[in-house]
Amino acid sequence: AAEEGFDLEDIEGAIEAAGHGPLPVLAVVGRPNVGKSTLVNRIIGRREAVVEDKPGVTRDRVTYEAEWAGRRFKVVDTGGWEQDVLGIDASVAAQAEYAIEAADAVVFVVDAKVGATDTDEAVVRLLRKAGKPVVLCANKVDGPSGEADAAYLWSLGLGEPHPVSALHGRGTGDMLDQVLEVLPEAPAQTFGTAVGGPRRVALIGRPNVGKSSLLNKVAGEERVVVNELAGTTRDPVDEMIELGGKTWKFVDTAGIRKRVHLQQGADYYASLRTAAAVEKAEVAVVLIDAADSISVQDQRIVTMAVEAGRALVLAYNKWDTLDEERRYYLEREIETELGQVAWAPRVNVSAHTGRHMEKLVPAIETALEGWETRVPTGRLNAFLGELVAAHPHPVRGGKQPRILFGTQAGTRPPRFVLFASGFIEAGYRRFIERRLREEFGFEGTPIHISVRVRE
Ligand code: GDP
Ligand code: GDP
Repeated sequence: AAEEGFDLEDIEGAIEAAGHGPLPVLAVVGRPNVGKSTLVNRIIGRREAVVEDKPGVTRDRVTYEAEWAGRRFKVVDTGGWEQDVLGIDASVAAQAEYAIEAADAVVFVVDAKVGATDTDEAVVRLLRKAGKPVVLCANKVDGPSGEADAAYLWSLGLGEPHPVSALHGRGTGDMLDQVLEVLPEAPAQTFGTAVGGPRRVALIGRPNVGKSSLLNKVAGEERVVVNELAGTTRDPVDEMIELGGKTWKFVDTAGIRKRVHLQQGADYYASLRTAAAVEKAEVAVVLIDAADSISVQDQRIVTMAVEAGRALVLAYNKWDTLDEERRYYLEREIETELGQVAWAPRVNVSAHTGRHMEKLVPAIETALEGWETRVPTGRLNAFLGELVAAHPHPVRGGKQPRILFGTQAGTRPPRFVLFASGFIEAGYRRFIERRLREEFGFEGTPIHISVRVRE
């Protein structure tokens, strides 16, 4: 029935929009200068994003949300990475490998004016191996005369080349229609696992915080079941690790073990790897070097996990090296620098001594539990009713906006839609989030709250 001025269709639409699970991921790969960043800007429909970045400038942001023909998805841009010491083939291959790994479908961009190069062929081999759906973008076809150049790219054996001008927008709509044809509705990586399958953990953190040491510790002391567990997909970059009596899939561990030393683009490479791991995981364990000041880079990695909507655990490593003074300052830093994720379970560990390794699994389990929590609508509305009565929204312009009712539209992470009689200020939204956490837990999970205002 219509409730307090909303009609049923509004309500259902809002719940559906808010309840979507994780979005499918589209990776845009190709050689430098073929126009990947230009294309990504076009797809996400924003100017600000990527093109003005200069080589050497840290690019942490590699994932963007996009929408085409009413469908939402994520785009992973690999355009920010310059050729480096590895040489062009190796560097393009390495970036493409991570991006493809994390993707549900790939747009492979080739410069139609140049034609297929050896490097392009190398990427084609990677794409074949990965077996993900591919849309071939023949870029820089700025006018009809370029179409013949595009046709040559049939030779790559990837099917029809889509002639596009990323710069002017020519052909991008048709290409995106094709992308939607092949892009799954939901990411297979995230929701494909059967109930009871191993949970997927991303161990992430800036370089030298101790990721590979920690991995060796947990994989070494417990039994390692490298890719040989019955009924699980074999994936050479993931590792099955038994911990606390359960098997966990640590995703993208090859990226941790493979110590590729890069000069240019190393930060970007690390960001891409982190984004790929986060996309594949249900829960992110962000490792932080407790001996060192908490940095902007630590914060960005935490933000990546939160924005991706994954469950979160914070692990402070190298605890064996801390003296009393450092411990004091660390607590202050955590409050000021990571106060916004105070809801994440925290463990203080040492990959060297093995300190508190046994606390890691309970923390991960707590976070996953919060991530999957569902509050029944009746309970939620009883809670909202009391909250609004006890702490009304401040009066603005003579009116008092009210939360009328709400519902939880989805989980993993929890998503709420609140229906209101007027604009709800950010401060009041934060207050509601805080109270929701106090009431229902949600430890270790971001929560999304969207507000629908009655017309
Ligand atoms: P990336 O390294 O693959 O990300 O390539 P960029 O997006 O940075 O583009 C490289 C250069 O190609 C830039 O100077 C772009 O303006 C240019 N470019 C990109 N797309 C097109 C296009 O469709 N037509 C033409 N003529 N130039 C393009
Ligand atoms: P990654 O780059 O995050 O994989 O970091 P590594 O595992 O390579 O560790 C970086 C450095 O920190 C190495 O010298 C490790 O020996 C050291 N390290 C890692 N964990 C600990 C720890 O718990 N205590 C101490 N004292 N050193 C550690």
